[in-house]
Amino acid sequence: MQTVIKGRSMPEALYKKNGKYTRIRAVDVHPKMKESTTFYCIKCKVQVTHSQGKKSEQSKPYFRRFQNTPHLTNCKYASRKTLQEYEREVGTLENLHYGVKTPLLLQQQDKDEENTKGSNDEQKAPSSIEKHPSEIVINPKKRHKKHLLTVDDLFYELSDIEDHSDISLKSKLKDRIYGKIYYSYSQYIEIINNYKNGSLKDYFFVSGKMNINEFITLKDPLKSYAELYGKNTSIRLKIYPYTDKINKELRNLTYRTRENHKKYEFIGLLASLRKIITEGDKTIIELDIFEFDTDQYRYN
Ligand SMILES: [Zn+2]
Repeated sequence: MQTVIKGRSMPEALYKKNGKYTRIRAVDVHPKMKESTTFYCIKCKVQVTHSQGKKSEQSKPYFRRFQNTPHLTNCKYASRKTLQEYEREVGTLENLHYGVKTPLLLQQQDKDEENTKGSNDEQKAPSSIEKHPSEIVINPKKRHKKHLLTVDDLFYELSDIEDHSDISLKSKLKDRIYGKIYYSYSQYIEIINNYKNGSLKDYFFVSGKMNINEFITLKDPLKSYAELYGKNTSIRLKIYPYTDKINKELRNLTYRTRENHKKYEFIGLLASLRKIITEGDKTIIELDIFEFDTDQYRYN
C-alpha cells in the first residue's frame, strides 16, 4: 500500500525578513520572490516549498513539504489521511462517521499525573500511539469512526469534504459533523437542544466571532472569559480559557486582529460544557476551551 509522505498543503508559511520570521500567504508569493526566498513551516519551522497549484484543478497556490524534510511529529501539517486516500483504501466514504478526541491538553495532564504517581508500569501498551495507516484494515461495510483532535483537523476535514465531487455524499458527511460534533456560528441553539436530549458530546467544536475588545474581560483574572458571538443574539457564549497560556493567546489574537484593522476574528474552538444558564430572555452557555484556531482553508 502506498505510504502518504507528502504532508498537508499549507496556505501560509514563514520567511526571513530582516532576520525576523514573517508570515506570508502562498497566494501573495511573486515568482521572483519564490526563487530567492526560503520558506518555513509556520508551526514547526522546517523548510517548505511553494507550489503554484494545478490550474486544471483550479487549486490555489500553496506551500508543501520540502523534499526529504518531513514536518516535526507534533506539527499539524504532518501527513494525514485525506478523504480521497480513505476512499481509495476502503472503497467508500458511506460509512465514515466522526468523533472528537480528548483534547491534547487533557491527555498531557493525564500523562503528567500518571508520572507523578510514580507508575512503574513501563510495559503498558502504548494505546495512544496510532497504528500506521497501512496496518489498519477497514471493512467497507462497517461503520467507521474518524476522531478529530484539533480545531485545525476540523477545518481541514470540512474543506476536504467541500472539495468532494459527490454532492449527496458531501451533504451526508456534513450532516455527521454539523450539530453533532461541531456547532457553527448559526447553530448555538443546537448545543442547548443536544444538552437537553443528552446527545451533547464531552468535547465538541464551536465557531463564532471574537471581538477585539474581548481582551478587556480576558485581562481580569477573576472573570477571565471572553464572549463568542454567533448569529442568534439571544444565546450568548462565554468561553473560559482552560489555561493562562490559552488566555494569553486569545488576547494576542485580539491585538493582531486590531492591528489588521478588523473588528473581529472568526475562530473555531475545542470546548466542553460548563453550564447553561438563563438570564432574563437570554441563554448563556459557558464553555471551557482547550484550544482555538482560525480557519486557514477558507479564503475571503
Ligand atoms: Zn510543520
